[in-house]
Amino acid sequence: MVDAIVVGAGPNGLAAAIELARSGRSVTVYEANETIGGGCRSAELTLPGFVHDVCSAFHPMGAASPFMRSLDLARDGLAWIDPEAPLAHPLDDGTAVLLERSLDRTVEGLGPDGRAYRGLIAPLVADWDKLAEDSLRPLLRMPRHPLAMARLGLAAVRPARMLARTTFRGERARALFAGIAAHSFLPLDAPLTASFGVVLAVLGHVVGWPLPRGGSQRIADALASRLRSLGGAIETARRVRSLAELPAARAYLCDVTPAQLERIAGDRLSSGYRAKLRGYRRGAGVFKVDYALDGPIPWRAPECLRAGTVHLGGTLDEIAACEDAVARRRIPARPFMLVGQQSLFDPSRAPSGKQTAWVYCHVPNGATVDMTERMEAQLERFAPGFRERVLARSVMPPAEIERSNENNAGGDIAGGSHGGLQYLARPFVTWDPYATSARDVYLASSATPPGAGVHGLCGYHAARSALRRVFG
Ligand SMILES: Cc1cc2nc3c(=O)[nH]c(=O)nc-3n(C[C@H](O)[C@H](O)[C@H](O)COP(=O)(O)OP(=O)(O)OC[C@H]3O[C@@H](n4cnc5c(N)ncnc54)[C@H](O)[C@@H]3O)c2cc1C
Repeated sequence: MVDAIVVGAGPNGLAAAIELARSGRSVTVYEANETIGGGCRSAELTLPGFVHDVCSAFHPMGAASPFMRSLDLARDGLAWIDPEAPLAHPLDDGTAVLLERSLDRTVEGLGPDGRAYRGLIAPLVADWDKLAEDSLRPLLRMPRHPLAMARLGLAAVRPARMLARTTFRGERARALFAGIAAHSFLPLDAPLTASFGVVLAVLGHVVGWPLPRGGSQRIADALASRLRSLGGAIETARRVRSLAELPAARAYLCDVTPAQLERIAGDRLSSGYRAKLRGYRRGAGVFKVDYALDGPIPWRAPECLRAGTVHLGGTLDEIAACEDAVARRRIPARPFMLVGQQSLFDPSRAPSGKQTAWVYCHVPNGATVDMTERMEAQLERFAPGFRERVLARSVMPPAEIERSNENNAGGDIAGGSHGGLQYLARPFVTWDPYATSARDVYLASSATPPGAGVHGLCGYHAARSALRRVFG
């Protein structure tokens, strides 16, 4: 008998296992796939020698996570690469607006809106350590730093479009902010969407949007290496269909969605708790294409080559219309897209002289439309000649994204919608969102606070909850 069993070797499952193991508990992780990592995997998806991030690519949340920082994963081989510009946002006039690591350079680049940007972002950069303590955990708790949280809250509660329009006068700053806020997967007129724009911009200056040398798989590998050094075990190719099929343990921590939790732990959970799980809402999906390229993307705005991530979607209003369409289950003609150019900064990702591109767009959950043409038209709009650089492509529609990881149901990569109450309290309003109605069963995935991203904090908090409630 082990003390604890963790279902799922995503970043949160591995984090939960590490926290239990470093508290002296014996732990085994069961992973459905042949490989560990969940949303943190890399593979040669196109041609030999081209290493693609199957899911996550850029890691502001990983670099900022107090849990990940406490592990010092450099000891397990993790090395961050920190592009000088986390983000570029090209526009139709052939220029691009950049989020720079340096706040001053970003302000300079924003021209007349620079001052307003500094007024919004600089105080939050200064307060980040306090904000991290209060915001990267369940939000419905008494804040330890009420003033800092109030300052964040004043900006964060607003819809992104409203904040962009009232804060910035020019289209450039508005577009930059809209692209960052669109990481919410929500219509930009929805309350709280500004928080995504604000927090990710702040992190751009505090820790950057770094990428791991060698691919995101290296984060999972480093976590697994730490877990094993603490005595933990991982079994792959072990899909758990029911907790009843597992060996006896004092606690079960599940890195799965609420719907899967109901399936695998069903009869252990009270009917009231199961009913609440059923009310949990999925988020929008993604359609992803990875490219092997014959050279860098031929951006009309060459400054895009300084950035790890590039947002394609044009102006604030265009991006807002696109996210609105997705929420109404319509397919946008010109989708909002995220482009990753990891190999520009990490030569280990592609053979000499060649490049990779990691690209996805937002689509309605479970959409079956092939977005490749529309995505390439959008790439051509900002980088004419893109198609001629393509050596090979790997296409992953929502169904394929779900097939490679059950947690991404319908292509939802965020572990459930962050809209409305599910932003403030996920999976639903409760004092301890990690605990379930069964004393020995815990939810440890991104369906709990602080939500999506590779930061391990959902798993960490779930492990702390189990340690308190089961192990005393
Ligand atoms: C295309 C894409 C792009 C992304 N980009 C970024 C990014 O750039 N930056 C970022 O921070 N985040 C990004 N994300 C989101 C990030 O990957 C997730 O938020 C994160 O991985 C969630 O971690 P998790 O441990 O909760 O779940 P997951 O990483 O999904 O891991 C869950 C694991 O549990 C396993 N599992 C599920 N059910 C069972 C079962 N019954 N039995 C055994 N094992 C099971 C799965 O196989 C999987 O390995 C992206 C995700 C995708 C898919």
